[in-house]
Amino acid sequence: GAMKHLPYFCRGEVVKGFGRGSKELGIPTANFSEQVVESFPSDIPTGIYYGWACVGNGDVHKMVLSIGWNPFYKNIKKSVETHIIHTFKEDFYGEILSIIITGYIRPEKNFDSLDALILAIQEDIEEAKRQLDLPEHLKFKEDNFFHRPEGKIVNNR
Ligand code: ADP
Ligand code: MG
Repeated sequence: GAMKHLPYFCRGEVVKGFGRGSKELGIPTANFSEQVVESFPSDIPTGIYYGWACVGNGDVHKMVLSIGWNPFYKNIKKSVETHIIHTFKEDFYGEILSIIITGYIRPEKNFDSLDALILAIQEDIEEAKRQLDLPEHLKFKEDNFFHRPEGKIVNNR
């Protein structure tokens, strides 16, 4: 299900999320606006993905991404949240985030405890790091989609 949509190219503004305290867990997630989420294929499965991300004209970093259900809309709309595997000096709300989703890890799960959730996310991050070093994923790091001078907002080019 997920694979037929990959690689998936997406660019859009980073907006305020739901204040679920992702940052407090040490895993901040940059949320895309509802408009960008709406542009995703409606049949793309929810779950955990990985790929490459770039804020503004910055460097390209590895990322893990969750496509989940948006609690603001009683879980009938999706949310798309990117955790970039990099330590930033400052928040980047309002900036343009460009991502290429290249792989899928697992479906969404419920966890019995916060510790179990954090452990699962840490495992997702390790899995993403390993996969992204493989040539079939690594090649997208240098894709022309990143660092376009005009920074035009497009979806799935
Ligand atoms: P929100 O609910 O507003 O999304 P989060 O706790 O998920 O709050 O934090 C997300 C914000 O943290 C992002 O919008 C971004 O500005 C900032 N941020 C800092 N470092 C990262 C990172 N490595 N990955 C994603 N977002 C980051
Ligand atoms: Mg977030």
